Amino acid sequence: QIKEHPDLGWQVFDSSLRVQQDLRLQTEVDLRQALDRGELRLHYQPIVIISNEEICGFEALVRWQHPTRGLLMPGEFIHIAETSGLIIPLGWWVLTEACRQMQVWTEQYPAMAEFTVSVNMSSKQFSQQNIVEKIQKILDDTGFVARRLKIELTEGVLIDHSDGIIATLQQIRAIGIKLLVDDFGTGYSSLSYLHRFPFDCLKIDRSFIENADQDFEKLEILQSVVRLAWNLGLDVVAEGVETPRHHAQLKALRCELGQGYLFSRPLAPAAVEAMMAEKAASLSDLPTVTRPT
Ligand code: C2E
Ligand code: MG
Ligand code: MG
Ligand code: MG
Repeated sequence: QIKEHPDLGWQVFDSSLRVQQDLRLQTEVDLRQALDRGELRLHYQPIVIISNEEICGFEALVRWQHPTRGLLMPGEFIHIAETSGLIIPLGWWVLTEACRQMQVWTEQYPAMAEFTVSVNMSSKQFSQQNIVEKIQKILDDTGFVARRLKIELTEGVLIDHSDGIIATLQQIRAIGIKLLVDDFGTGYSSLSYLHRFPFDCLKIDRSFIENADQDFEKLEILQSVVRLAWNLGLDVVAEGVETPRHHAQLKALRCELGQGYLFSRPLAPAAVEAMMAEKAASLSDLPTVTRPT
Protein backbone atom coordinates (compact mmCIF):
# COMPACT_ATOMS: atom_id res chain seq x y z
CA GLN A 1 0.00 0.00 0.00
CA ILE A 2 1.44 3.34 -0.99
CA LYS A 3 0.09 6.55 0.40
CA GLU A 4 1.29 10.08 0.70
CA HIS A 5 2.21 11.01 4.19
CA PRO A 6 1.73 14.73 4.73
CA ASP A 7 4.96 15.22 6.64
CA LEU A 8 7.36 12.69 5.27
CA GLY A 9 6.53 12.66 1.58
CA TRP A 10 5.82 9.40 -0.24
CA GLN A 11 6.08 6.42 2.06
CA VAL A 12 5.38 2.75 1.86
CA PHE A 13 3.67 1.41 4.92
CA ASP A 14 1.33 -1.29 5.95
CA SER A 15 -0.47 0.23 8.87
CA SER A 16 -1.07 3.55 10.48
CA LEU A 17 1.01 2.34 13.42
CA ARG A 18 3.97 2.10 11.10
CA VAL A 19 3.45 5.69 10.00
CA GLN A 20 3.30 6.77 13.60
CA GLN A 21 6.55 4.97 14.34
CA ASP A 22 8.24 6.50 11.32
CA LEU A 23 7.08 9.95 12.30
CA ARG A 24 8.30 9.40 15.84
CA LEU A 25 11.68 8.25 14.68
CA GLN A 26 12.00 11.09 12.21
CA THR A 27 10.93 13.56 14.90
CA GLU A 28 13.66 12.25 17.18
CA VAL A 29 16.28 12.55 14.43
CA ASP A 30 15.12 16.10 13.66
CA LEU A 31 14.93 17.12 17.30
CA ARG A 32 18.53 16.08 17.79
CA GLN A 33 19.49 18.75 15.25
CA ALA A 34 16.89 21.31 16.25
CA LEU A 35 18.92 22.58 19.18
CA ASP A 36 22.09 23.10 17.16
CA ARG A 37 20.13 24.72 14.37
CA GLY A 38 18.35 27.10 16.72
CA GLU A 39 14.86 25.89 15.84
CA LEU A 40 13.41 26.00 19.36
CA ARG A 41 11.35 29.00 20.43
CA LEU A 42 9.80 30.18 23.66
CA HIS A 43 6.35 31.67 23.91
CA TYR A 44 5.29 33.53 27.04
CA GLN A 45 1.85 33.22 28.57
CA PRO A 46 0.89 35.99 31.00
CA ILE A 47 0.02 35.05 34.58
CA VAL A 48 -2.38 37.56 36.06
CA ILE A 49 -3.64 38.62 39.45
CA ILE A 50 -7.24 37.37 39.49
CA SER A 51 -8.59 40.35 41.43
CA ASN A 52 -7.41 43.08 39.04
CA GLU A 53 -6.18 41.25 35.91
CA GLU A 54 -2.75 42.83 36.18
CA ILE A 55 0.08 40.76 34.73
CA CYS A 56 2.63 39.64 37.31
CA GLY A 57 4.68 37.22 35.22
CA PHE A 58 4.83 34.70 32.40
CA GLU A 59 5.12 30.99 31.91
CA ALA A 60 7.72 30.17 29.27
CA LEU A 61 6.42 27.43 26.94
CA VAL A 62 8.60 25.76 24.35
CA ARG A 63 7.74 25.51 20.65
CA TRP A 64 9.69 24.06 17.77
CA GLN A 65 9.93 25.88 14.47
CA HIS A 66 10.34 22.74 12.37
CA PRO A 67 11.91 23.32 8.93
CA THR A 68 9.09 21.55 7.04
CA ARG A 69 6.30 20.91 9.52
CA GLY A 70 5.84 24.45 10.82
CA LEU A 71 5.52 25.50 14.43
CA LEU A 72 5.13 22.40 16.60
CA MET A 73 3.53 22.45 20.04
CA PRO A 74 5.07 20.58 22.99
CA GLY A 75 2.44 17.87 22.70
CA GLU A 76 4.07 16.86 19.41
CA PHE A 77 7.62 16.49 20.70
CA ILE A 78 8.05 16.74 24.50
CA HIS A 79 7.26 13.08 25.01
CA ILE A 80 9.83 12.11 22.37
CA ALA A 81 12.31 14.47 24.01
CA GLU A 82 11.69 12.74 27.35
CA THR A 83 12.10 9.18 26.10
CA SER A 84 15.16 9.97 23.99
CA GLY A 85 16.97 11.95 26.70
CA LEU A 86 16.93 15.07 24.49
CA ILE A 87 14.81 16.75 27.16
CA ILE A 88 18.03 17.38 29.10
CA PRO A 89 19.72 19.72 26.60
CA LEU A 90 16.29 21.07 25.63
CA GLY A 91 15.49 21.84 29.26
CA TRP A 92 18.76 23.71 29.77
CA TRP A 93 18.18 25.67 26.61
CA VAL A 94 14.71 26.67 27.83
CA LEU A 95 15.95 27.84 31.21
CA THR A 96 18.83 29.80 29.70
CA GLU A 97 16.66 31.41 27.01
CA ALA A 98 13.89 32.37 29.45
CA CYS A 99 16.38 34.06 31.81
CA ARG A 100 18.21 35.75 28.94
CA GLN A 101 15.02 37.07 27.36
CA MET A 102 13.56 38.27 30.66
CA GLN A 103 16.78 40.10 31.48
CA VAL A 104 16.79 41.83 28.06
CA TRP A 105 13.15 42.88 28.58
CA THR A 106 13.88 44.06 32.11
CA GLU A 107 16.47 46.46 30.77
CA GLN A 108 14.11 47.58 27.98
CA TYR A 109 10.78 48.00 29.75
CA PRO A 110 10.49 49.37 33.28
CA ALA A 111 7.04 47.75 33.62
CA MET A 112 8.75 44.37 33.30
CA ALA A 113 11.07 44.88 36.27
CA GLU A 114 9.15 42.79 38.76
CA PHE A 115 7.63 40.22 36.42
CA THR A 116 8.50 36.63 37.16
CA VAL A 117 9.09 33.81 34.72
CA SER A 118 8.05 30.20 35.25
CA VAL A 119 9.99 27.46 33.52
CA ASN A 120 8.91 23.82 33.28
CA MET A 121 11.59 21.34 34.25
CA SER A 122 11.43 17.65 33.50
CA SER A 123 12.01 15.02 36.13
CA LYS A 124 14.78 13.70 33.84
CA GLN A 125 16.83 16.83 34.42
CA PHE A 126 16.97 15.93 38.10
CA SER A 127 18.91 12.74 37.36
CA GLN A 128 21.84 14.93 36.42
CA GLN A 129 24.71 15.85 38.68
CA ASN A 130 25.33 19.43 39.76
CA ILE A 131 21.88 20.62 38.82
CA VAL A 132 21.98 23.40 41.41
CA GLU A 133 25.34 24.63 40.14
CA LYS A 134 24.04 24.56 36.58
CA ILE A 135 21.03 26.69 37.50
CA GLN A 136 23.23 29.11 39.44
CA LYS A 137 25.54 29.44 36.45
CA ILE A 138 22.63 30.29 34.16
CA LEU A 139 21.55 33.04 36.58
CA ASP A 140 25.11 34.36 36.76
CA ASP A 141 25.58 34.27 32.99
CA THR A 142 22.29 35.98 32.17
CA GLY A 143 22.18 38.36 35.13
CA PHE A 144 18.58 37.39 35.91
CA VAL A 145 17.75 37.50 39.61
CA ALA A 146 16.81 34.24 41.30
CA ARG A 147 13.79 35.61 43.12
CA ARG A 148 12.03 36.29 39.79
CA LEU A 149 12.53 32.71 38.58
CA LYS A 150 9.98 29.98 39.24
CA ILE A 151 10.51 26.33 38.42
CA GLU A 152 7.45 24.22 37.65
CA LEU A 153 7.65 20.55 38.53
CA THR A 154 5.06 17.84 38.28
CA GLU A 155 4.84 15.37 41.11
CA GLY A 156 6.60 12.84 38.85
CA VAL A 157 9.87 14.38 39.97
CA LEU A 158 9.07 13.40 43.56
CA ILE A 159 8.17 9.87 42.60
CA ASP A 160 11.17 9.34 40.30
CA HIS A 161 13.69 10.71 42.75
CA SER A 162 12.50 10.14 46.26
CA ASP A 163 16.05 10.02 47.63
CA GLY A 164 18.00 13.20 47.65
CA ILE A 165 15.37 15.25 45.87
CA ILE A 166 14.37 17.12 49.01
CA ALA A 167 17.95 18.29 49.53
CA THR A 168 18.21 19.37 45.89
CA LEU A 169 14.91 21.24 46.01
CA GLN A 170 15.95 22.95 49.24
CA GLN A 171 19.21 24.07 47.65
CA ILE A 172 17.31 25.49 44.69
CA ARG A 173 15.04 27.38 47.05
CA ALA A 174 17.99 28.57 49.09
CA ILE A 175 19.22 30.41 45.98
CA GLY A 176 15.90 32.28 46.06
CA ILE A 177 14.09 30.44 43.27
CA LYS A 178 10.41 29.57 43.83
CA LEU A 179 9.18 26.02 43.30
CA LEU A 180 5.74 25.27 41.88
CA VAL A 181 3.79 22.04 41.69
CA ASP A 182 2.37 21.94 38.16
CA ASP A 183 -0.89 20.22 37.17
CA PHE A 184 -1.79 19.85 40.82
CA GLY A 185 -4.54 17.33 41.38
CA THR A 186 -3.77 15.04 38.47
CA GLY A 187 -1.26 12.76 40.23
CA TYR A 188 -1.56 10.24 43.03
CA SER A 189 0.12 11.47 46.13
CA SER A 190 -1.00 15.07 45.96
CA LEU A 191 -1.80 15.72 49.58
CA SER A 192 0.89 13.82 51.44
CA TYR A 193 3.85 15.36 49.65
CA LEU A 194 2.81 18.94 50.10
CA HIS A 195 4.22 19.28 53.58
CA ARG A 196 7.21 17.01 52.91
CA PHE A 197 8.53 18.93 49.94
CA PRO A 198 9.55 22.57 49.92
CA PHE A 199 7.07 24.07 47.46
CA ASP A 200 6.01 27.71 47.28
CA CYS A 201 3.02 27.47 45.00
CA LEU A 202 0.39 25.13 43.59
CA LYS A 203 -0.81 25.32 40.01
CA ILE A 204 -4.23 23.80 39.92
CA ASP A 205 -4.70 21.69 36.82
CA ARG A 206 -7.11 23.13 34.32
CA SER A 207 -9.37 20.07 34.48
CA PHE A 208 -10.61 21.42 37.83
CA ILE A 209 -11.34 24.87 36.45
CA GLU A 210 -12.88 23.61 33.20
CA ASN A 211 -16.14 22.31 34.56
CA ALA A 212 -16.28 23.95 37.94
CA ASP A 213 -19.22 26.00 36.70
CA GLN A 214 -21.31 22.92 35.87
CA ASP A 215 -19.88 20.21 38.06
CA PHE A 216 -20.49 20.77 41.75
CA GLU A 217 -17.85 18.24 42.83
CA LYS A 218 -15.19 19.96 40.73
CA LEU A 219 -16.11 23.26 42.34
CA GLU A 220 -15.82 21.67 45.79
CA ILE A 221 -12.36 20.33 44.93
CA LEU A 222 -11.30 23.67 43.53
CA GLN A 223 -12.46 25.43 46.67
CA SER A 224 -10.70 22.90 48.91
CA VAL A 225 -7.44 23.21 47.03
CA VAL A 226 -7.49 27.00 47.25
CA ARG A 227 -8.16 26.73 50.98
CA LEU A 228 -5.51 24.04 51.46
CA ALA A 229 -2.94 26.21 49.73
CA TRP A 230 -3.93 29.15 51.89
CA ASN A 231 -3.62 27.06 55.05
CA LEU A 232 -0.19 25.76 54.04
CA GLY A 233 0.98 29.25 53.17
CA LEU A 234 1.31 28.44 49.47
CA ASP A 235 0.42 30.65 46.52
CA VAL A 236 -2.12 29.32 44.02
CA VAL A 237 -2.33 29.67 40.27
CA ALA A 238 -5.40 28.45 38.41
CA GLU A 239 -4.63 27.09 34.95
CA GLY A 240 -6.98 27.17 32.00
CA VAL A 241 -9.05 30.23 32.83
CA GLU A 242 -11.05 30.41 29.61
CA THR A 243 -14.30 32.22 30.37
CA PRO A 244 -15.52 35.21 32.38
CA ARG A 245 -17.44 32.67 34.46
CA HIS A 246 -14.26 30.84 35.40
CA HIS A 247 -12.75 34.17 36.28
CA ALA A 248 -15.71 35.19 38.46
CA GLN A 249 -15.67 31.86 40.23
CA LEU A 250 -11.97 32.08 41.01
CA LYS A 251 -12.46 35.62 42.26
CA ALA A 252 -15.21 34.43 44.58
CA LEU A 253 -12.92 31.66 45.87
CA ARG A 254 -10.17 34.24 46.39
CA CYS A 255 -7.76 32.35 44.21
CA GLU A 256 -4.82 34.68 43.81
CA LEU A 257 -3.39 34.07 40.36
CA GLY A 258 -4.69 32.80 37.04
CA GLN A 259 -3.49 31.84 33.61
CA GLY A 260 -5.59 31.07 30.58
CA TYR A 261 -6.90 32.04 27.19
CA LEU A 262 -9.34 34.52 28.74
CA PHE A 263 -6.41 36.69 29.78
CA SER A 264 -4.01 35.79 26.99
CA ARG A 265 -2.73 32.95 24.85
CA PRO A 266 0.99 32.21 25.01
CA LEU A 267 2.67 35.04 23.09
CA ALA A 268 5.64 35.06 20.76
CA PRO A 269 8.39 37.42 21.99
CA ALA A 270 7.42 40.07 19.41
CA ALA A 271 3.87 40.10 20.78
CA VAL A 272 5.14 40.52 24.34
CA GLU A 273 7.25 43.43 23.12
CA ALA A 274 4.28 45.03 21.36
CA MET A 275 2.26 44.70 24.56
CA MET A 276 5.02 46.25 26.67
CA ALA A 277 5.50 49.10 24.20
CA GLU A 278 1.77 49.81 24.30
CA LYS A 279 1.84 49.77 28.08
CA ALA A 280 4.74 52.21 28.17
CA ALA A 281 2.93 54.51 25.73
CA SER A 282 -0.31 54.52 27.70
CA LEU A 283 1.60 55.27 30.90
CA SER A 284 3.34 58.26 29.35
CA ASP A 285 -0.07 59.50 28.13
CA LEU A 286 -1.28 59.85 31.69
CA PRO A 287 -1.48 63.41 32.97
CA THR A 288 1.43 64.14 35.27
CA VAL A 289 0.46 64.40 38.88
CA THR A 290 1.87 67.43 40.61
CA ARG A 291 2.74 67.11 44.24
CA PRO A 292 0.96 69.48 46.55
CA THR A 293 3.45 71.96 47.92
P1 C2E B 1 1.76 23.07 31.35
O1 C2E B 1 3.09 23.33 31.98
O2 C2E B 1 0.65 22.67 32.26
O3 C2E B 1 1.44 24.40 30.55
C1 C2E B 1 0.14 24.90 30.35
C2 C2E B 1 -0.42 24.48 29.02
O4 C2E B 1 -1.81 24.84 28.97
C3 C2E B 1 0.23 25.17 27.81
O5 C2E B 1 0.17 24.27 26.73
C4 C2E B 1 -0.72 26.34 27.59
O6 C2E B 1 -0.67 26.85 26.28
C5 C2E B 1 -2.03 25.67 27.86
N1 C2E B 1 -3.06 26.63 28.23
C6 C2E B 1 -2.92 27.83 28.80
N2 C2E B 1 -4.09 28.44 29.02
C7 C2E B 1 -5.04 27.58 28.57
C8 C2E B 1 -6.47 27.65 28.51
O7 C2E B 1 -7.11 28.59 28.93
N3 C2E B 1 -7.09 26.55 27.99
C9 C2E B 1 -6.43 25.48 27.53
N4 C2E B 1 -7.13 24.47 27.02
N5 C2E B 1 -5.06 25.39 27.56
C10 C2E B 1 -4.40 26.43 28.08
P2 C2E B 1 1.44 23.95 25.80
O8 C2E B 1 2.25 25.18 25.58
O9 C2E B 1 0.95 23.19 24.62
O10 C2E B 1 2.31 23.00 26.73
C11 C2E B 1 1.85 21.75 27.10
C12 C2E B 1 2.73 21.11 28.13
O11 C2E B 1 4.03 20.83 27.60
C13 C2E B 1 3.00 21.98 29.34
O12 C2E B 1 1.91 21.94 30.22
C14 C2E B 1 4.25 21.33 29.90
O13 C2E B 1 3.91 20.17 30.63
C15 C2E B 1 4.96 20.90 28.63
N6 C2E B 1 5.99 21.91 28.33
C16 C2E B 1 5.88 23.09 27.68
N7 C2E B 1 7.06 23.73 27.62
C17 C2E B 1 7.95 22.93 28.26
C18 C2E B 1 9.36 23.04 28.56
O14 C2E B 1 10.04 24.03 28.24
N8 C2E B 1 9.94 21.99 29.23
C19 C2E B 1 9.21 20.91 29.63
N9 C2E B 1 9.85 19.94 30.30
N10 C2E B 1 7.90 20.79 29.39
C20 C2E B 1 7.27 21.77 28.71
MG1 MG C 1 3.73 24.44 33.48
MG1 MG D 1 0.41 23.17 34.13
MG1 MG E 1 -1.89 21.38 33.09
